[in-house]
Amino acid sequence: MIEIALTKAEKTSSLPIGQELVFGKIFTDHMFVMDYTTGKGWHSPRIVPYGDFPISPAMLSLHYGQAIFEGMKAFRSADNRVWVFRPYEYLNRFNRSAHFLQIPQMDVEDIHTALFTLLALEKDWIPGKPGTSLYIRPLVFADESQLGVKVADSYKLFIILSPVGAYYKTGFNPISIKVEDKYVRATKGGLGEAKTPANYAMSLAAQQEAYAEGFGQVLWLDAVHRKYIEEVGTMNILFKFNGEIVTPALNGSILGGITRKTVLELCRSWGIKVSERQISVEEVFEAHAKGELEEVFGSGTAAVISPVGELTWKGQKIVINNNQTGEFAQKLFDFITGVQSGKIADQFNWMEEIKG
Ligand SMILES: *Cc1c(COP(=O)(O)O)cnc(C)c1O
Repeated sequence: MIEIALTKAEKTSSLPIGQELVFGKIFTDHMFVMDYTTGKGWHSPRIVPYGDFPISPAMLSLHYGQAIFEGMKAFRSADNRVWVFRPYEYLNRFNRSAHFLQIPQMDVEDIHTALFTLLALEKDWIPGKPGTSLYIRPLVFADESQLGVKVADSYKLFIILSPVGAYYKTGFNPISIKVEDKYVRATKGGLGEAKTPANYAMSLAAQQEAYAEGFGQVLWLDAVHRKYIEEVGTMNILFKFNGEIVTPALNGSILGGITRKTVLELCRSWGIKVSERQISVEEVFEAHAKGELEEVFGSGTAAVISPVGELTWKGQKIVINNNQTGEFAQKLFDFITGVQSGKIADQFNWMEEIKG
């Protein structure tokens, strides 16, 4: 068991009430921090006032990108109890990402203890209005200072917390997506499976061009053939063809989303046919032409489910379900958010209570 030192903030603030919460702009009073030094391992776990880190201009992660992160959520139920959605899934993925970036493995039980200790301290920051949550951002970066390219010998891990508002303020708004045929996000053998800043850096130019063209998001194709569907970049993508849910298999260049996993588990438990396989963009357009493409939606922690209303590939546009939210996407959204908010019984044990 780790012993976590606590330094309380002298000045604290509180969850703003009667004010719209914007994603990731305000942070709670405290954060968890821990260091790693070769020979010593992970050490000095502590909860300290939220604040800046001094940065050496020669810090390795700044120059060479050795960093990983996670994104998960805590919720408040109507009976005023507080919960985290599938914490071990996210923490285990954090370690898998660490492997890809050659960041030292963390003891998942220790990080879990750290997270729940921090959340217990900050629990008043967990909002309770419908659709709101406390977003949890763990991150590890190489903080050794020197300019030679190498695996670092020192790291910092931190966990910061940010109360967030409802992703959909006025109900679902199906998004218009550009199927990207110029840029690629990841290749097999690369970093696509890791939650690492590099994958986001890769996506910026494509995202910006797509925004300028009036699209809401980019759908990535595989880097080799430029024909197989991968993911949306902050979300995985799922299709409903003739009653069957189909999503790209985790092939080494796609991030294995916890929401994707949750959706697939849920579909299987409901007796709905699910396939994880290769899907070409042609197949999607052909299914649409034949009237077999019923729904398209993204899955990710931030939005949970995000219906896709239009897909444009090489200038050709298809409109899905009349640009309306599909029944199945709505059902998944209602079920998952229902369990998260405590309105629906947690039969799958997704929620872990924050005690103390
Ligand atoms: C985080 C992320 C997702 C969604 O994963 P969830 O665990 O469902 O939040 C999808 N793609 C990428 C690239 C991501 O970083």
